[in-house]
Amino acid sequence: MVSLYEAHKKIYPRSVSGLFSRWRWALVWLTQLVFYGLPWLEWGQRQAVLFDLNAKRFYIFGLVLYPQDFIYLTGILVVSALSLFLFTAVAGRLWCGYACPQTVYTEIFLWLEKLTEGDRSARMRRDAAPWSLDKAWRKTAKQVLWVAVALWTGFTFVGYFTPIHELGRELSQLNLSAWETFWVLFYGFATYGNAGYMREQVCLHMCPYARFQSAMFDKDTLIVTYDQERGEPRGARSRKADLSTLNLGSCVDCSLCVQVCPTGIDIRNGLQYQCIGCGACADVCDTVMDKMGYPRGLVKYSTENAVNQHWTKAQTLRHVLRPRVLIYSGILGAIVVAMGVSLALRTPFKVDVVRDRGTLARMANGGKVENVFRLQIMNATETSQGFQLTVDGLPGLAIASEQDVVIESTQARWVAVRVQLPFDAAQPGTYPIHFRITAQQSAQTVSEKSVFIVPKN
Ligand code: SF4
Ligand code: SF4
Repeated sequence: MVSLYEAHKKIYPRSVSGLFSRWRWALVWLTQLVFYGLPWLEWGQRQAVLFDLNAKRFYIFGLVLYPQDFIYLTGILVVSALSLFLFTAVAGRLWCGYACPQTVYTEIFLWLEKLTEGDRSARMRRDAAPWSLDKAWRKTAKQVLWVAVALWTGFTFVGYFTPIHELGRELSQLNLSAWETFWVLFYGFATYGNAGYMREQVCLHMCPYARFQSAMFDKDTLIVTYDQERGEPRGARSRKADLSTLNLGSCVDCSLCVQVCPTGIDIRNGLQYQCIGCGACADVCDTVMDKMGYPRGLVKYSTENAVNQHWTKAQTLRHVLRPRVLIYSGILGAIVVAMGVSLALRTPFKVDVVRDRGTLARMANGGKVENVFRLQIMNATETSQGFQLTVDGLPGLAIASEQDVVIESTQARWVAVRVQLPFDAAQPGTYPIHFRITAQQSAQTVSEKSVFIVPKN
């Protein structure tokens, strides 16, 4: 029986230090301080960032968004996609190597693994050895730490949707709702599985970005490259050996660049879709070059053109500003400005008008035709607001119910509005009318269309 599938080989990435590793850890700290810290921030009397799905309100610092503000979510998604295109055109898989949650959590889980089980060679030795007390307690300690981080991550995630202090209280009383329990465990399990076990397989087989990224690459995109010309022929040699007599390139064939690679590839085979551009191989190769007394940069961030044409760093960076990058930047900048302006000019309340289904049109006292509407007024500010309602569209058309309405901060209210028209002011038929809702403090007005029905007798 021949299997069509290659057996999965576990990758044991060796830890590495260096410039790019420091950048990665800086981003781990930055992204995780934001992720774990944001739900604990207070803004006035409430959580600063809260997506309250039950009340259909999204709070982002001073902003209160309703489902009707969905356009901003679309804008954020477009900005994220364009940013990804821009970063990829400039520097390949920069996002993957430094800020993608898969990379960030894998880095944290790997650090915990190193803390409990040691670095690559110790882990490989221990995994190959039979079970012992030492192996059992180290593996247990690792699992305890992994599960704790995963559950805390799940708890934090749910804290963006349920006020986190309330969630903490419910948890301490073992009183979480079924949905909250499900999402804490589900998100925690996803973190544990992806960062603890799936690791590079998520990047290689599950992430769609790995598949289409090459469409955004060109010969001026910064990628991690091995300088073939300088490195080959590769081979081991002593530190004091004279390279000119050995007919060897700078690569000492130590395989450290393969050992540190989180996806287990050999960068010396050229650009491969598995490369997440993390720069770990560049960091470790620089330390090897330092030890050998050779110049750094045998493995480095560079572009295909720069390597082929032997450009200097300055020349390479100059070519990064090419039409594609300028177009992405222009579109991105325009959308960000448009979103900022739209948010700044946004009316701080929203109105929906629906006709009362029970009462299409009727005769009212005083010989008037009456239509009943329901207006939903949503106050998107954190102070109570007074609104004045008026209607126009037909001569003599007027509101016969309350015209001044107060809506408490961030609340929405349905108001029944009776609109009347003198009996002989219009022939039977339907007429377009406009409701105008004016905020008393800001004098901003929202106009909503509807129709007025004049029945036959
Ligand atoms: S780390 Fe550098 S010297 Fe060592 S094998 Fe890789 S490319 Fe060659
Ligand atoms: S080849 Fe180098 S840059 Fe690419 S994933 Fe492996 S270690 Fe990171």
